[in-house]
Amino acid sequence: MKWVHGAACAGDPSPGDWFASADADRTARAVAVCGGCPVRLECLEVGLGEGRGVWGGVPRDGGQVPGGDREQDQAILEARKVARSVARREQERKRLALESPEAREMRLAVRREYSRKRRARATEAG
Ligand code: SF4
Repeated sequence: MKWVHGAACAGDPSPGDWFASADADRTARAVAVCGGCPVRLECLEVGLGEGRGVWGGVPRDGGQVPGGDREQDQAILEARKVARSVARREQERKRLALESPEAREMRLAVRREYSRKRRARATEAG
C-alpha cells in the first residue's frame, strides 16, 4: 500500500491510540491526527472491512468518539467517487488537447463507423 507513506500517523509516538477504543481521550487524539491526514480517504476505504481500530478518522469498533457511523463513511466514499470521476474527465480533456489532428480524425472515424454499425443492427432488430 503505497499511500501509507503519506500517513500522518506514521512514526506517531503513541500508535496504540488507534486501537484504544476503551479510552475516549486516546481515541479522540487518534481521530484528531487522522483529521489532518492527506491519505485519509484511502485509509477510510481500507478500514471499512476492519472491525477495530481508527481508520480514516473513524473508529471501526463503535469507539467512544462520534463519527463512527456508516452514513459518514458512505458520504465520504461518495465524495471520493465524484472526485475520481472529475479527475478522469480532466485527464481525458488533457489527453484530447494533446491529440494530433490525424489521431483525432482517426478516432472520430472509428466512432462514426461504430455508430453506423449500431444503427444498422438496431434497424435489423426493429
Ligand atoms: S487516516 Fe489516520 S489512521 Fe489512516 S493513515 Fe491517516 S493518520 Fe493513519
